[in-house]
Amino acid sequence: MLESRYDVVVVGAGPGGSTVARFCAESGLEVALLEKRQEIGSPKRCAEGLSADSAKLLGLEIPKKCIAQEIDGAVIFAPNGKSITVDYGKTSGYILERKVYDKWLAEEAARAGARVFAKTKVTSVLKSGSSVTGVTAEFEGERFEVEASVTVAADGVESKVSRWAGLDTTNRLVNIDSGYQWEMVGIDIEDPRKIYLYFGNEIAPRGYVWIFPKGKDKANVGIGIGLSNRPAKYYLEKFVRERPELRKGSITEVNTGGIPVGGFLKNMVLDGFLVVGDAAHQVNPIHGGGMKEAVAAGRIAASVISEAVEAGDTSSEKLSRYNELWWKERGEHLRRVERLRQVVEKLSDEELNSLVESLTGDDLVEFSKGAGLKKLASILMKKPGLVKLARHLI
Ligand SMILES: Cc1cc2nc3c(=O)[nH]c(=O)nc-3n(C[C@H](O)[C@H](O)[C@H](O)COP(=O)(O)OP(=O)(O)OC[C@H]3O[C@@H](n4cnc5c(N)ncnc54)[C@H](O)[C@@H]3O)c2cc1C
Repeated sequence: MLESRYDVVVVGAGPGGSTVARFCAESGLEVALLEKRQEIGSPKRCAEGLSADSAKLLGLEIPKKCIAQEIDGAVIFAPNGKSITVDYGKTSGYILERKVYDKWLAEEAARAGARVFAKTKVTSVLKSGSSVTGVTAEFEGERFEVEASVTVAADGVESKVSRWAGLDTTNRLVNIDSGYQWEMVGIDIEDPRKIYLYFGNEIAPRGYVWIFPKGKDKANVGIGIGLSNRPAKYYLEKFVRERPELRKGSITEVNTGGIPVGGFLKNMVLDGFLVVGDAAHQVNPIHGGGMKEAVAAGRIAASVISEAVEAGDTSSEKLSRYNELWWKERGEHLRRVERLRQVVEKLSDEELNSLVESLTGDDLVEFSKGAGLKKLASILMKKPGLVKLARHLI
């Protein structure tokens, strides 16, 4: 059973937490991974899209049981219905079975030596002076304390652990999108190897509707929107109602959740503490994907923690190497993507239409990586009303 002392205690067995736990365990540390849900990964709060390059970050091959559908491109629709197709000509991403994937990641952490505990809810953090020294948790009504040299908050978008520890991770409301999704079956999908994205201020204000196929007749059909007078559900219902190929389908799951789309944190550490994943707003601001970012941050965090524990110094000064590395490897890039989001969300439907006419699939591939922004700026510059926005990108 659970011991009372570990090198590292990780709160939350999502992709971020399981990654920190696995890499720390692989480097020989004693790790406890605590997850409040009774079944890791369920219910899912995700459209389950993952780019193929994310597997490299994991350092593991993703097993077939975790993959519902391989993807080789995307079809992106302007408000007027015109589209651009991005075709990679090979598998470039997956639609996962997130419930299977998250559980597999936690199992891999356990196989590496971490102790994983489901249905174990962290209720507070332990502190000694300025240092975080562990957590208080509950399992089946039993309350106990777990001490650790480093406590990791990987408790997702609604993170409380950082706040309890004394690190203010409050995000601005403008940086939180509302996600609402139906997993549907009995629908028609033209090409299940493509994801379908629909933009427009009437369709999804400051966001988009997605169809992420999980086979020929099954998909996650969802929406992410910014602050709006109407809830995300209103827009998704309208979208589905207007499309016979979707309207005829059944809803087998309803998935909801907030998505942080910006507001990256300069500081993510305290004495004996750090925060990863959604809890640290580490999500790609343009498409809202956070699984890859959680793994990337989890890996960086684990290397810093391992070094700190080995050196017997888990002070914030030592752990702040995580801030430096994350900003260098992920943060600078994500901040550029955030600037792109800030431009795209200000475009009118007419401007979105003309943008889709001026761009190619290859341009979109570049933008999604945060590159090629000068080309986008030069297109926007041609429209007098958009010059100010365009300058934001250069
Ligand atoms: C509608 C929607 C669609 C999305 N689609 C995609 C997509 O297609 N692709 C993509 O990459 N991302 C997508 N995301 C974002 C993605 O789901 C997150 O970015 C990702 O799950 C972040 O991983 P994480 O490990 O940081 O947090 P999470 O996966 O949220 O894991 C946090 C874990 O901490 C646990 N926890 C919380 N509090 C406690 C506590 N007190 N004690 C113990 N455990 C606790 C939670 O139960 C949870 O299991 C989507 C999000 C939403 C809402």
